Amino acid sequence: MVETSFDIELIRAQFPTLQQKVGKYPLVYFDNGATSQKPKVVIDRLDQYYKLENANIHRGVHYLSQISTDNYEKARKSIQAFINAKHDHEVIFTSGTTDGINLVAQCFGTLLEKGDEILITELEHHSNIVPWQMIAAEKGLLVKYIPLLENGELDWDQLDELLTEKTKLLAFAHVSNSLGTINPAKEIIKKAHSNGTKVLLDAAQSLQHFKVDVQDLDCDFLAFSGHKVFGPTGIGALYGKEDLLNEMPPYKGGGDMIKTVSMEKTEYNELPFKFEAGTPHIAGAIGLGTAVDWLSGFNYNEIQQYEDELLSYATEQIKTIDGVTIYGEAKNKSSILSFLIEGLHPYDIGTLLNQQGIAVRTGHHCTQPVMDHFGIPGTIRASFCFYNTKEEIDLFINALKKAVDMLK
Ligand code: PLP
Repeated sequence: MVETSFDIELIRAQFPTLQQKVGKYPLVYFDNGATSQKPKVVIDRLDQYYKLENANIHRGVHYLSQISTDNYEKARKSIQAFINAKHDHEVIFTSGTTDGINLVAQCFGTLLEKGDEILITELEHHSNIVPWQMIAAEKGLLVKYIPLLENGELDWDQLDELLTEKTKLLAFAHVSNSLGTINPAKEIIKKAHSNGTKVLLDAAQSLQHFKVDVQDLDCDFLAFSGHKVFGPTGIGALYGKEDLLNEMPPYKGGGDMIKTVSMEKTEYNELPFKFEAGTPHIAGAIGLGTAVDWLSGFNYNEIQQYEDELLSYATEQIKTIDGVTIYGEAKNKSSILSFLIEGLHPYDIGTLLNQQGIAVRTGHHCTQPVMDHFGIPGTIRASFCFYNTKEEIDLFINALKKAVDMLK
């Protein structure tokens, strides 16, 4: 992989969306936690696919089908390299993190028995809570959780007590989307394994910020979304260890996931196809392959250092505004700044920021239990990416001051 130089102007020039204005204001995009913008190389790749390569995969002998199949499988290898999976068939294409977690909940869930326990945390996105509650209701499982502390870290000291001989799976976010907390994944996974508990890591908010190596972490499953790592929407991947994926039955039936079908019975296909029923998002997978190849060209240490600087600068600046409360002050934190301003509704602030070209997210960020914990309805969240700049933070702080003056 060729290392790309970390030149912020050159990086920004690759993103057409970032060149726009909102009315008379330059667009300042601080909603990266929700989705990232797309570099031209990804947009061009999708264009090329639909212009020159479009065909259904795996079942065709003709020229286009072969090209399309080759590129789809090449994308799988790109993702394998990106997360350092041992085998490419341990990478299952999904529609995103939510889909990956639901797959594990349903398929791993069938291996569980009444009374078995799933451990999650109070910090999770709804997509790492609801699928477990659904399978728990269906199978008579118990869902327990690691509680949140006031600074936005999890109370991992309770892990030993919460892990029992019945805890079959621990599922937690690598990075919190609403508070930015980075969880000590490797250490936690080791502890869970010493209890015989499998681990699913929700990597929706981590891969775009730092290197994630599934073999080094030793997680059993890892789910992520393409659209948060500069790829298209509607595509993502689930990593699973080979033996576990082989043990699990599929939960979606249809084309491609079978070896043979008769009117009496079906023999399932091998990995990874067993879990990829129907025509997949071929263009999306190829675009995601391009996105992770592009991202892999950067030095992650430089990305992390730069984003840390953005976060420190924004945190310092926002503290100069009267009545600001920051939610999430973990020691190890990703570039997410969640806050409220005393007496003002987050939605009103978001609307006034938007009128000045600043895109932030307001609300509960699909983490209602986190909001309940702090006794608030939601926050204003500015989430930074390495294509953002300190100048944009200055524009944001000035716009925020203006908004506060107008509302107070
Ligand atoms: N998990 C976390 C931590 C997230 O931040 C998100 C999305 O914001 C998800 C899961 C769900 O991702 P998706 O909607 O792409 O499936």
